[in-house]
Amino acid sequence: MRYGPFFAQLVIIRCCNLHCGYCNEYDQHSPPIMPEVLRERIDHLKRLGTFGICFTGGEPTLHSALPELVAYARRTKRFFRTGMITNGTYRHDRQGPRESA
Ligand code: SF4
Repeated sequence: MRYGPFFAQLVIIRCCNLHCGYCNEYDQHSPPIMPEVLRERIDHLKRLGTFGICFTGGEPTLHSALPELVAYARRTKRFFRTGMITNGTYRHDRQGPRESA
């Protein structure tokens, strides 16, 4: 019998715009993980038979490729469930951190 993860959390960025005192899952300087690296990780989770994927960080809405990554997981790779853990402070006029070259 073959086993794989049922549900996976994928950290797409470590940076966060908040600094909650209890949290050790963030910093305020790391660049976002490159989208091509994240697509490879999504591909691998799919090969493992993963049912659902949750985008998280840091604060995932700071990643400029978040909409593209969600669409890739949902429409292209056909994950049954996609989700996100966010602090809910997204502002459309906010500049997020730049991806490293
Ligand atoms: S919003 Fe979330 S990731 Fe950011 S510092 Fe608070 S608990 Fe950590």
